[in-house]
Amino acid sequence: MSTFKLEIVATDKIFFSGDAEFVTLPALDGEMGIMPEHDTMVVAVKAGELRYTVNGTVNDCAVGDGFAEILGDRVTVICDFAEHDFDIDVMRAESAKERAEERIKAKRSQIEYVHSQAALARAMARLKVTSKMKQNR
Ligand code: ATP
Repeated sequence: MSTFKLEIVATDKIFFSGDAEFVTLPALDGEMGIMPEHDTMVVAVKAGELRYTVNGTVNDCAVGDGFAEILGDRVTVICDFAEHDFDIDVMRAESAKERAEERIKAKRSQIEYVHSQAALARAMARLKVTSKMKQNR
């Protein structure tokens, strides 16, 4: 199976660094699948689900906003946060979602609206990944 070097860098850590067979990114205009020898490009990544395959095993995780550089034999993802499905605290994400929704409803200021939308997107990304984990059990 051919592979490429995948590096996923979050704000606080190198989340993954190694050889991968496939990665699916939450790109701005939808899901994007990348195989070895993909065309060179830079894409914006939005908060959502990222899946990467290593030795035939699919690893599911939530990532935050960022970007990805695709260079044929190397893919680098730089993002706000990255968490494996099994590391996500569902109750915390549900509380964060509720708080963000309350703040959006309160319509306090434009800046608070933008921050709340971003917090909501992060919580939704975490909940999407964990709900799939439950379904696969
Ligand atoms: P919260 O309001 O619950 O802190 P947040 O979206 O503001 O959520 P972030 O600023 O994205 O949180 O993350 C801060 C740190 O907490 C990061 O290290 C992130 O990985 C971790 N984190 C945030 N939410 C969760 C969660 N639901 N489960 C596990 N780790 C989380």
